[in-house]
Amino acid sequence: MRILLVEDDRPLGEGIRTALKPEGYTVDWLQDGASALHALSHESFDLAILDLGLPRLDGLEVLKRLRAAANAVPVLVLTARDATTDRIAGLDAGADDYLVKPFDVDELKARLRALLRRRFNRPEPTLEYRGIVLDPANQQVSYQGTPVPLPRKEFALLHELLAQPGRVMTRDRLQQALYGWEEEVESNALEVHIHHLRKKFFPELIRTVRGVGYLVDKC
Ligand code: CA
Repeated sequence: MRILLVEDDRPLGEGIRTALKPEGYTVDWLQDGASALHALSHESFDLAILDLGLPRLDGLEVLKRLRAAANAVPVLVLTARDATTDRIAGLDAGADDYLVKPFDVDELKARLRALLRRRFNRPEPTLEYRGIVLDPANQQVSYQGTPVPLPRKEFALLHELLAQPGRVMTRDRLQQALYGWEEEVESNALEVHIHHLRKKFFPELIRTVRGVGYLVDKC
């Protein structure tokens, strides 16, 4: 899952990014509203964490413009102000949830999981698919009742694919979901991860759609 974090407070941004990485998220971080609006309009993110007080373009304005352009990316708003009016303005502008600073990072993680469940219309906290059970909260996967330890990237890839069975995921999208802007990617890295997942579970788990990407069939 790829998250855009928009926060101009460096220590806080760094703290959030560090806290979310081990959860298997790919976190791209921007520090002003104008860049955030541009990134959200041109790339695909599963979710955005948006501070309201931002340079260049206010968070509330970013949100309004996104929604005016029919961009439905789930947005969790961070506000330093505990004023009810700010929270109401955020929700009215199209925020899906909000947190008031200072907040507990475990609460942030739980709220992100809830937002992602809603995004994919999934009431249960775990993903289940043909004997595979993936639990985003504790980062564990089992197959036919046996735990299958997965490296972070493989976990993230499996999570991405199982979240939307029946939908073809392009190579680009999967690569962005796994690596974001930061990491150098070897050209065949994605194929290697796919190969490992097929081996650890079963070969038909992930179907190659030639020239496009990959697909997990609907059950
Ligand atoms: Ca701020």
